[in-house]
Amino acid sequence: MRLEGKVALVTGGGRGIGREIAMTLAKEGADIVIWDVNPADAQNTCAEIGSLGRKTLAEQVDVTNFDAVDAAVNKILDKYGKLDILVNNAGITKDNLLLRMSQQEWDAVLSVNLKGTFNCTKAVFRAMSKQRSGRIINIASIIGIIGNYGQANYAASKAGIIALTKTSARELAARNVTVNAIAPGFIQTEMTAKLPEDVKAQMMKAIPMAKLGAPKDVANACLFLASNEADYITGQTIVVDGGMVMV
Ligand code: NDP
Repeated sequence: MRLEGKVALVTGGGRGIGREIAMTLAKEGADIVIWDVNPADAQNTCAEIGSLGRKTLAEQVDVTNFDAVDAAVNKILDKYGKLDILVNNAGITKDNLLLRMSQQEWDAVLSVNLKGTFNCTKAVFRAMSKQRSGRIINIASIIGIIGNYGQANYAASKAGIIALTKTSARELAARNVTVNAIAPGFIQTEMTAKLPEDVKAQMMKAIPMAKLGAPKDVANACLFLASNEADYITGQTIVVDGGMVMV
């Protein structure tokens, strides 16, 4: 197994892509901590992972809360003595055209997606630096690279995550901690299920592989970045999108 003895934290791991990432890392031997605002989802995922024989910890943590995040990381360090992998996956959308976008819609999305990633990165920074090892994997989006109608807040948050990834990678490189991002395209989850049909049809036309991605496609990229095979890769963004964005 590729992650035997590792401890991984997945934010927003109760459902969707985060859940699949947690399951995939667990199947490769990692013990898993799941944070989610919905405690029932976090516990359900952990129960399934526990049946694989891994240790789990499910916590109700809102990544926007700096102090709560810091305290929850300390709890992981007390329980496991280390943290090897952080997957910053928690994310939300609140779409609206710029003309109609409210301050609340802007703030909410920036707060979960970008500030949440900052909070979690900052909370693990010292421990991973001291360990002289660690993996941080940030879930961005192709929308942070190409922008999208009605998603100014989301696009800005995800572009910010890509920039934060590069800066954290530079600051942590000498400590043998790698920081990379994954930019998924159009992945089949509850987040995309709620998009209007005409928007979905439009996006399908833009996918050269002419199909939606599955959470597993993102989870596999995450597993690679978490594994020893990715030892010498840092500051990068891996696009997982069926060919929508080719840079
Ligand atoms: P989902 O909405 O299915 O899952 C997101 C999870 O994050 C939910 O469990 C949610 O909890 C949790 N969450 C939301 N806010 C917080 C918070 N403040 N603190 C902790 N947890 C929180 O989304 P996806 O699985 O589709 O997306 C996962 C990530 O992938 C996101 O960052 C998203 O932006 C990104 N992404 C997704 C794409 C897609 O096509 N689906 C494409 C590109 C990127 P709750 O259940 O309570 O809402």
